[in-house]
Amino acid sequence: PIKQAPKQTIEGAELVGITLAKEEDFSGWYQQVLTKGDMLDYYDISGCYILKPWSYGIWERVQQYFDSRIKSMGVQNCYFPMFVSAKVLEREKDHIEGFAPEVAWVTKAGQKDLEEHIAIRPTSETVMYPYYAKWIRSHRDLPLRLNQWNSVVRWEFKHPQPFLRTREFLWQEGHTAHIDYPSADKEVMQILDWYEGVYRDVLAVPVRKGKKTENEKFAGGFYTTTCEGYIPATGRGIQGATSHCLGQNFSKMFNITVEDPKWKEGDPEEAKKLHVWQNSWGLSTRVIGVMVMIHSDNKGLVLPPNAAQIQVVIVPCGITAKTTEAQRKALTDAVLDLEKTLSDGGIRVHADLRDTYSPGYKFNDWELKGVPIRLEYGPKDIEKNQVVAVRRDTGVKESVSLQNIAQELQTRLTTMHQDMFNKAKEAYDSHVKLVKTWDEVVPALDAKNVILMAHCKCQGCEDEVKENSKGRVDTEAPEDSRAPSMGAKSLCIPFDQPDGKDKIVPGVTKCVHCGENAKHYTLFGRSY
Ligand code: AMP
Repeated sequence: PIKQAPKQTIEGAELVGITLAKEEDFSGWYQQVLTKGDMLDYYDISGCYILKPWSYGIWERVQQYFDSRIKSMGVQNCYFPMFVSAKVLEREKDHIEGFAPEVAWVTKAGQKDLEEHIAIRPTSETVMYPYYAKWIRSHRDLPLRLNQWNSVVRWEFKHPQPFLRTREFLWQEGHTAHIDYPSADKEVMQILDWYEGVYRDVLAVPVRKGKKTENEKFAGGFYTTTCEGYIPATGRGIQGATSHCLGQNFSKMFNITVEDPKWKEGDPEEAKKLHVWQNSWGLSTRVIGVMVMIHSDNKGLVLPPNAAQIQVVIVPCGITAKTTEAQRKALTDAVLDLEKTLSDGGIRVHADLRDTYSPGYKFNDWELKGVPIRLEYGPKDIEKNQVVAVRRDTGVKESVSLQNIAQELQTRLTTMHQDMFNKAKEAYDSHVKLVKTWDEVVPALDAKNVILMAHCKCQGCEDEVKENSKGRVDTEAPEDSRAPSMGAKSLCIPFDQPDGKDKIVPGVTKCVHCGENAKHYTLFGRSY
């Protein structure tokens, strides 16, 4: 069932804060935080949402972070059409098998049926690679590294969730071609590190890096690496971003070849043709949803300082009926002065001078919108050359001297970002449960853990883990009742494998599920 947009309420009702508790009705809470926090609005097509400036600005910060890094590596941005013909889309068999059920098609123009139906890209491998075949003529054209900041359409039928799973989403998709495997492999890992960086440095969110199993890898790819996140409130994993090595599968289908520079006279003629190695990698607006689910609370959004468009808001306070016109003007001037000082000091600051709202109203309003630090500034503070600073995440209040105020606040913003990351990391780390026996699995999942278990890596066993780990049906969240009862999917084979006494001993350590020889620890969990 597709969730309805929340009913429009009476005018001014947006002033009312969050009425649902994160711990009790998570999905209702999430909707309220997003709509009342001014991030997003619902749309009349299910699975599609409007990103308002408050969330789009966070996306722009993610873009800045990632775009500057990929450009330093020589990636160039470009734009390809959103339409793809059936013939081209279906060229790589495994790829189209993976995506077919979710492809949206244009079948009509006005009232006229189109002779050839046209697909809307679910991802652009097949859109771009015919041109890679045309443009890559020699090994000197390699590596070719292109990226698009665009949107794609995947007509998903699973329960849609704002940001996490939407039918159209914004993302970047990088597509590169390399002369050999080492060059492609090195890039896959570099991109994955930057994805981790987006989560850590922009969104204060910890992720675990690893490789997808064969079951879960990208359709048509060689191998997939991933950043896996964790939502403590629901105990579910979430795929954060993926960096794929496509190997030579697509270059063989699309005939993307160069003359092998190592080929020499006398070598067999067929060895002359080298199929290029390819990668593709993508990170979507899902990152915003993950950030909101992890950090926000029952008062609304909590934005990490590096993601927030407004890091500090100044609210003038202490005006009473007795305050003279001259005192009011002095306060406004002081607020504007402070705003300039902070802005000059590199802080994204806003002075809330709206005179139709009380300070109390403004406090709630900015709390709902998650601004990291609120400054309360009144005539008494001016006298004492200080300001009262309140941290959104902890609610801690302190007086800060105006001496060096920009630097003082920068330090606090940095600390706050790190504290938010550390808190989320602690929540994640303490819910990764290493299990030794199958009996522990379902209770561990029901206790909102993701599980790390020695696994044989067989695809059939992985399917059975999913089937056999289905737990109780949660009647408290009937609108998404499949969720808590669903089985555990493999999230990734973490790069960081347990060591010491837990280390896998080949031939000795057994798969926790089927008892065959274990190859790796695999992270399993209920997931989005
Ligand atoms: P993929 O091309 O399937 O590897 O997807 C790249 C990334 O996009 C994934 O790692 C997800 O984080 C994200 N993503 C995939 N599907 C959706 C969706 N329906 N809505 C939002 N983000 C998505």
